[in-house]
Amino acid sequence: MSEPTAPSKAHPAPMPTAMRSHTCGALRPEHVGLTVSVCGWVGRRREHGEHLAFVDLRDHTGVVQCVVDGTVDVRSEYVLRITGTVRPRPEGTVNPNLATGEVELADCEVEVLSVAEPPPFPLDDRAAEVDEILRLRHRYLDLRRDTMQHNLRARARISSAIRGAMDGQGFVEVETPMLIASTPEGARDFVVPSRLKPGSFYALPQSPQLFKQLCMVGGVDRYFQIARCMRDEDLRADRQFEFTQLDAEMSFASQQDVLDAITVAVAAATEAATGEVIGEIPHMTWREAMDRYGSDKPDVRFAMELVDLTDLFADTGFNAFKGADIKAICHKDASESTSRSRLDDLTAAAKRWGAKGLVWMRVEAAGDDGANAGTVTLNSPVAKFLSAGELAGIAERLGAGPGDVCFLVADDWHRTCHVLGLLRLELGRPPVNEGGLQFLWVVDFPLFEDVDEATGKPVPAHHPFTMPHVDDVDLLDGGTEELLQVRSQAYDLVLNGWELGSGSVRIHRGDVQQRIFDLLGISVEEAQAKFGFLLDAFRYGAPPHAGFAFGLDRLVALLLGVDNIREVIAFPKTQSGGDPLTSAPAEIAPAQLDELGLRLLPRAT
Ligand code: ASP
Repeated sequence: MSEPTAPSKAHPAPMPTAMRSHTCGALRPEHVGLTVSVCGWVGRRREHGEHLAFVDLRDHTGVVQCVVDGTVDVRSEYVLRITGTVRPRPEGTVNPNLATGEVELADCEVEVLSVAEPPPFPLDDRAAEVDEILRLRHRYLDLRRDTMQHNLRARARISSAIRGAMDGQGFVEVETPMLIASTPEGARDFVVPSRLKPGSFYALPQSPQLFKQLCMVGGVDRYFQIARCMRDEDLRADRQFEFTQLDAEMSFASQQDVLDAITVAVAAATEAATGEVIGEIPHMTWREAMDRYGSDKPDVRFAMELVDLTDLFADTGFNAFKGADIKAICHKDASESTSRSRLDDLTAAAKRWGAKGLVWMRVEAAGDDGANAGTVTLNSPVAKFLSAGELAGIAERLGAGPGDVCFLVADDWHRTCHVLGLLRLELGRPPVNEGGLQFLWVVDFPLFEDVDEATGKPVPAHHPFTMPHVDDVDLLDGGTEELLQVRSQAYDLVLNGWELGSGSVRIHRGDVQQRIFDLLGISVEEAQAKFGFLLDAFRYGAPPHAGFAFGLDRLVALLLGVDNIREVIAFPKTQSGGDPLTSAPAEIAPAQLDELGLRLLPRAT
């Protein structure tokens, strides 16, 4: 991966306008002798002797040093137009760290276009230490910084590469509405009250899902959109209320057709951001991902894979291991750096993640104090409950050597995988900008993620239009156990342990769809009320179709090596959903409420 956030100012274009002949960052020795006009913001001013001052003038392409009359009143962030002559910097004052560092502007005529108050935080790398709320309140200042300029421009390049890749594959860009009826993505809707129909509400789209499927019925054949989606769910570093997706749908297409088309888009995005050419993206089934990495979005930048030990304990005398699914990971060379209190913390974390406990074992050279495990010794509070064969088996299966620490979890399969998967990340996950870009398709997701104990109805893992796996259709008639085994034709794209997006082959036949609705406990009336228009459309000849969507904000963040998507969004919301810049969300005037036919309840205290 390329250097994460170093702004590239290699060859900024001159971009002349009526007010400037060159951009600040464009000036080089080849321009010496030319009279040029540059426009921008004052980055820094330094007095130079009695009569002169150096002003660093900055625009999005870089900075140029201008030698101005010391009496000129210009301060930080004033907006200037400076006309001067490009000359070489005197011997010994060349700045090799600056693209324009060999030249400066002399004989400057300075025109103040705007005065500026001192900015509330420094507009350089020190801003990264500033309270994010302050940065967001003055985002227009934050955006002037090199890093933010770099991020925004990289994002634009990535979007444009994706658009080009989709265009090039015959996808048609179609805009879908923002004021709609609810979409079934499983999150809470944002709703908009209707003025003309008081008491009725539009929902903002959680995705263009239903419309893209309607496009297929409408013969569009290949649809795409760089779409805004709105989901009212808890925010995190990789989640915003409103986010952007590359959304796509294809007719007469298989799962593999979709994966191929999206791979082309993702490869174009990667190349635009980092210059890196990615080859084919490997596939892994959901079950294998869970078994080996304890996650449906495995971070395969590092190994520390889960090793199954269940059969080793088939006849164990240790109660905690009886009848459980047992897996383990080995943290190489970690014994010395892992204190007892860290082990206690990890055990507490494992319990928080749902495990009954966590077994740890320090691996020591044979002969040291501890339970003999053949070639090595395992030092652990539970070693005394295990047989020599079991201990030797653990060390051998994990390939554990002196200095390693092994961790074991015994629970049902889901929980064992889940807890060890989280522990693996906690122990081994590299920083976001290290370890390269490891894309992965996770395929064959289960159709249902659970069965609701109260209703006995299965809970869909994706949306309810997802086609079951052809080989598993018969299992739909079974009980809970069978239902949980049904695979779907749904797939996720994962990058470095982040879920970038998901998609599926859709159900295009009314009878199959009705069967799934029945299973999910969605009544005919409810289905008709929620998605009646889609079901109606399907009655008029629906082509088999499949699609996908991935989060652009997440992709851009990872390609730029940052772990907070707010860094790649021009005007994001805070973690609590507010916008410190515009003060949204805000109260509205009583008259507006009247017009919408709304009354506010007294606030709960
Ligand atoms: N609409 C789905 C989502 O936004 C993706 C898809 O199935 O195409 O997650």
